[in-house]
Amino acid sequence: MTTIPRIILKPGKEQSVMRLHPWVFSGAIRKIDGQVAEGDLVEVVSNEQQFLAMGHYQIGSIAVRLFAFEPVVPDPGYWQMKIQAAWRYRETLRLTGNKETNVYRLVNGEGDGLPGLIIDFYNGIAVLQMHSIGMYRIRDQVTTALQNIYGSGLTAVYDKSEGTLPFKAQLGAVNGLLFGNETSVVVKENGCLFNIDILKGQKTGFFIDQRDSRKLLADFVQGKDVLNMFCYTGGFSVYALKSGASMVHSVDSSEQAVELTKHNVALNEGETDRHLAIAADAFGYLNGIKDAYDVIVLDPPAFAKHQDALKNALQGYKRLNAKAIEQIRPGGIIFTFSCSQVVSKENFRKSVFAASANTGRHVRILYQLTQPPDHPVSMYHPEGEYLKGLVLQVE
Ligand code: SAH
Repeated sequence: MTTIPRIILKPGKEQSVMRLHPWVFSGAIRKIDGQVAEGDLVEVVSNEQQFLAMGHYQIGSIAVRLFAFEPVVPDPGYWQMKIQAAWRYRETLRLTGNKETNVYRLVNGEGDGLPGLIIDFYNGIAVLQMHSIGMYRIRDQVTTALQNIYGSGLTAVYDKSEGTLPFKAQLGAVNGLLFGNETSVVVKENGCLFNIDILKGQKTGFFIDQRDSRKLLADFVQGKDVLNMFCYTGGFSVYALKSGASMVHSVDSSEQAVELTKHNVALNEGETDRHLAIAADAFGYLNGIKDAYDVIVLDPPAFAKHQDALKNALQGYKRLNAKAIEQIRPGGIIFTFSCSQVVSKENFRKSVFAASANTGRHVRILYQLTQPPDHPVSMYHPEGEYLKGLVLQVE
């Protein structure tokens, strides 16, 4: 039996692992005992050699991603057990075997005790996004586990890790099918239909994390004029149209997104003159909207991917929200979001506060939104909470 390399922590650095934080930073390591290559399985021990956890090693600031805080044998059966546990949890959320919704996140990295692994389920197609080399190496075991769990309910497994793995590792990862041959599918979310193109779509193909917010939007749109800014696949637009909006304008700077939105609207509503999709830059478009809308959705891409971009990002949120708050019709509703991980809930709220204050209008917070429960956040890993939203009412 080969011995597992051991990561020996500096004195005191065992505390965060004992509190179940799933990462070991490189600065916490005193010594590595044994030969270790990127993606290897390692044991983490305290300075006093006490066993703490097991994880995958990687070169970089996050040196070990921990998946077990007790000794385990990470064989195919182990990974299947972990993924099965994630599936069972989605079953309790009534996302599996649900007639109205067949798209959900099956594995959410740290939130499911599987750091570095994301699995989204699209009506039979599982899309994997690996963020760690350790998880990338076991992709075939993950595929087998999915086949065992879903049986004939699984039509394909697509690996979309090319852009999410550390490029320095030079793994030569290429996106592609690991099983089956389907790469596009129509999914249902709360009874709304969406055509998903796994190959061309952003992230794993669809923003599953806005499911609950889209549903909430439906409560506010009856007889209203709605702007869905940053529409991408038209998620919010479809819900608004199905829920009786008078008019929906969908705007995105990408022509491809505008086409996707048109297609998805047609899939649900057929030909309709209640919808218009426009390719335009958000800041330019919002300059001239005057009092055209009762409801505005602002769901921009992450303005800050790193800490150094934080200040500009907060300015961006402020400018964007100010334009909407200034011009929305009296009594209007704004659904505003940030999906930047480095922007905290408090910082996002401060930006929206500053935007509101500049307009002099009375603004109330009706809801504070976050990611849905199939994107769970480990209590010990608050970094996993990335999606923040506010529903505002402007007098
Ligand atoms: N609301 C969508 C997700 C939005 S993703 C949903 O529910 O699925 C962000 C979108 O913003 C992308 O489609 C991207 O093309 C678009 N985008 C990025 N920069 C933009 C800009 N300056 N103006 C308008 N759209 C922009």
